[in-house]
Amino acid sequence: MAKTIGVILSERISAGLVVDHKLIGGLRRYPEDHDEVDGLVELHTDGLVQTICEQVVLAANGETDLTAIGVALPGLVKNGVVEEAPNLPQLKGARIQELLAVQLRSHGLEVPVTAVNDADGMAAGLASAHGKLDSMIRVWTLGVGIGYGRYPFTPGVWEGGHSVVTLDHKESYCGCGGRGHMEGIMGHRAMRLRFLDMEPEEVFEAAKKGDPRCLDFKKLWHKALAAATATSIHMAGPGKFFLTGFNVRFVELPMLREYLQQMVKMSPLQSYALEIVEDNPEVRVIGAAVSAEQAVGR
Ligand SMILES: [Zn+2]
Repeated sequence: MAKTIGVILSERISAGLVVDHKLIGGLRRYPEDHDEVDGLVELHTDGLVQTICEQVVLAANGETDLTAIGVALPGLVKNGVVEEAPNLPQLKGARIQELLAVQLRSHGLEVPVTAVNDADGMAAGLASAHGKLDSMIRVWTLGVGIGYGRYPFTPGVWEGGHSVVTLDHKESYCGCGGRGHMEGIMGHRAMRLRFLDMEPEEVFEAAKKGDPRCLDFKKLWHKALAAATATSIHMAGPGKFFLTGFNVRFVELPMLREYLQQMVKMSPLQSYALEIVEDNPEVRVIGAAVSAEQAVGR
């Protein structure tokens, strides 16, 4: 029986005890009060590590025979070091696995810690929730930026949200500054930059009513998702793609499928599937725990 703790780090910290890939006893949240959600950005690295450890200890609820602890965070993590974390900039360069392991030891928990990218954690959580721990799945998170997660873990960079989906030199709204990127078309921040006079919700609403500029954009938005998905299919093969994040509300699956059919023509690559799923913290916490459990076995 594998006992693990999963932790996710986004605007707040969520942690839970996961036994045999099931969440036991619900989620712990910090801060509990939604008004304080900017608190994490203001904590320096030591304070953040300390706070995560306190949440882990509380989630463990007295259990000490833990197999692993998994922490999913928004950023590029390599060999336990945070190489890039635009939303938690204080973590850049932090040897997060080591810092957490040392701090946990002082709380009496001698457990290996694994840090993973949050999109990969989400992919592991969805694989677990959908009984697909033995197959490859990919997940697009459509939010402020565009996340790309994959399961099972494979060493690499996997910044799929920055896939180049157009050669138009005017396409330069991506948060990373790169030209022609998927996120520069689909990301919430990028959409607000493009339509300075309209919120993304209003753009998609106007597209429904036939506004030509908004309708063109809606098509471009779906083509961008189809293009990046087609590239992933051509590089890694067909399989299951989950779509999640707060902007899945804009996805029209028939339109997306139509564009994808135009882009993927080789018959051995046709067995792909698309599914929209709710982005929930429970799945992400289980994913962080499953990722950590598998890392221990590697
Ligand atoms: Zn980019």
